[in-house]
Amino acid sequence: APVIEFRQVGLTYPGPPPVEALRPCDLVIEPGEFVSIVGPSGSGKSTFLNIAGLLDQPTTGTYLLDGIDTTTLKDSDVTSVRGRRIGFVFQSFHLLPHRSALENVMLAMTYNGVPRAERAERAREALACVGLGHRVAAMPSTLSGGERQRCAIARALVARPSLLLCDEPTGNLDTANTATVLRLLETLHDGGMTVLVITHEPEVAARGSRTVAIRDGVLSEQVMR
Ligand code: ADP
Ligand code: ADP
Repeated sequence: APVIEFRQVGLTYPGPPPVEALRPCDLVIEPGEFVSIVGPSGSGKSTFLNIAGLLDQPTTGTYLLDGIDTTTLKDSDVTSVRGRRIGFVFQSFHLLPHRSALENVMLAMTYNGVPRAERAERAREALACVGLGHRVAAMPSTLSGGERQRCAIARALVARPSLLLCDEPTGNLDTANTATVLRLLETLHDGGMTVLVITHEPEVAARGSRTVAIRDGVLSEQVMR
C-alpha cells in the first residue's frame, strides 16, 4: 500500500469565520519516495503536516496511512499508529534539555512496549547511524545545532517508522549543518525510508524526487525529477 493516500482530504477550521485551510485534495506517496512540500507562509503547510502526522483529523475525506483508514480510528489507536509509523523532525529539535542524547532517543520507544535494555541498545544504534555514536552521554546544551538535529533524527528513526515527517528540518541550521542534515536525509532515503520534508528553502526542496506545492490551501504537483 502507499505510505500516504489522501482521498479528497480537506480541513476547514470552524471559525467564525471558517477558514478553508486545506481544500479537498488527492495525494499518493509510495514507499521510498522523498517528497518536498513547499508553499508560502499561511498557505496550509502546517495544516497538511498536522493531518499527515495524525496530529489533526481532516474535516472531509479519507486518509489512509500504510493502508490503514486513519479517519475511522479511535483516539487511542491514532496515538499508537502515530507512535509506531511516523517519525517527526521539527525545526526547533524538541529535545528534552535535562536528558542525555541517549535518553532523549530512548524516550521515543516508551510507549511501544520495548524493554529498557533493548531500548538502550536500539537508541545507541540510531545515534551511531546519524554519526553521534561518540556523543550518547552528551546533554543537548553541549551539542551543536547540527548535532541536536541529528539526535532528533535518531529519535525519529528509533521506533522504525514507515514515514519520516520533517517540518523545516534545516530552518535553525547554518549552511554547513544544513548540508550535513540533508546528506543524512538522502542516506536514509537511499536506504529505503519514505521522507516528507516541509520547507520554504528551495535548496532543501530540490532534494526531493518530487515537489508538491501548496498555495491558499490548494495542493498541486509542481515538479517531477
Ligand atoms: P502555513 O503552515 O503554510 O503557514 P497554516 O496551515 O498554519 O499555514 O495556515 C493555513 C491557513 O489556516 C492560514 O490562513 C491560517 O491563518 C489558518 N489557520 C491556521 N490554524 C488555524 C486555526 N486554529 N483556526 C483558524 N484558522 C487557522
Ligand atoms: P517547528 O519548530 O518546525 O515550527 P513546531 O514546534 O511549531 O515545529 O511544531 C510543529 C507542530 O508539531 C505543532 O503543531 C506542534 O504542536 C506539534 N509538535 C511539536 N512537538 C511535537 C512532538 N514531540 N510530537 C508530536 N507533535 C509535536
